[in-house]
Amino acid sequence: MPCKGIHAISSGPVEFPELVYSFVICDDKTVMIDSGVSNSVMDISFLDKLDYLVLTHIHVDHVGGVSELVQRYKPKIILYEGFSKYLEDTTHLNASARNVLGDLLDIYGEVDPVKGGEFLEVKGGEELKLGKYTMKIYYTPGHAKHHISILIDDILYSGDSVGGRYNGIPFPTTPPPLDYDKYIESLRLQISLNPRMVGLSHGGFVSSNHMEEHLNQLIKGDYRVNIDLGGTAGELLNKLLEINYSGIAKSQNAK
Ligand SMILES: [Zn+2]
Repeated sequence: MPCKGIHAISSGPVEFPELVYSFVICDDKTVMIDSGVSNSVMDISFLDKLDYLVLTHIHVDHVGGVSELVQRYKPKIILYEGFSKYLEDTTHLNASARNVLGDLLDIYGEVDPVKGGEFLEVKGGEELKLGKYTMKIYYTPGHAKHHISILIDDILYSGDSVGGRYNGIPFPTTPPPLDYDKYIESLRLQISLNPRMVGLSHGGFVSSNHMEEHLNQLIKGDYRVNIDLGGTAGELLNKLLEINYSGIAKSQNAK
């Protein structure tokens, strides 16, 4: 049966499945945005095909499932120009993740190389017809210099370019190496798109005023948040938040 509608799918590790979300948009063409961690509990058994797999950026918590998805569905993989090579050989990707994330990488799992993937490299500005809807691609650097965001049916899929949100509290998604000025610029660009909803990789679907709230907390320097999730999930999130704060501190010190 063809899939229908829009889905936010938990694709984090078993310790905190909602740490990462992937999104599936079903039209004549089926699109998935990001693929979670390698140790993901993602359930996509409802998918009988996948035409496009968009990677907002190639950090380990967004590309963990790619090799499996390629084997199963052979989607076209859409990502920023020049970065396919880091999926064909994931040595560099895993090593830099180890460097930034430390033992969190053991919880996420290392990324397997992608064999036989068909890549469609983009720069931003492209539009692809999906059926009823069109997928628009925007270049949104800052979190990573190769970050892209996607607009489909007036919903923005922002990856890690406009922060995350748990318990109704926005937080920065800014691990080192961060380009703070570009992050702010990309955030402003996406606010100007005025989408009806935003799909956050770390938070799921939220209303679009999340983006202004996040911008304001950065401008005020008020970005250290207290999100109490409790238990293992809470510990994981707190570790991740400390890494994200350190990205802002390092980028400010470098100025
Ligand atoms: Zn992420």
